[in-house]
Amino acid sequence: MNEIDRTLSAPRCPICGKARDEAFRPFCSKRCADIDLNRWLSGVYAIPVKDDADDEDGLRPADNDNAER
Ligand SMILES: [Zn+2]
Repeated sequence: MNEIDRTLSAPRCPICGKARDEAFRPFCSKRCADIDLNRWLSGVYAIPVKDDADDEDGLRPADNDNAER
């Protein structure tokens, strides 16, 4: 009875839901850790990078001219 309660409250891998491995906390394996990393990396950097670089190029010349004087 006690063993079951312990298994239920044990932290699980957020990717696949299996019991996590201490070596790959909070995931169950390196594969799941890679999946999670890939997931938020593509979500955070996918769109803004290209758009921001294009916008900054147009702003720089005006700012540079102002600082020179
Ligand atoms: Zn997993």
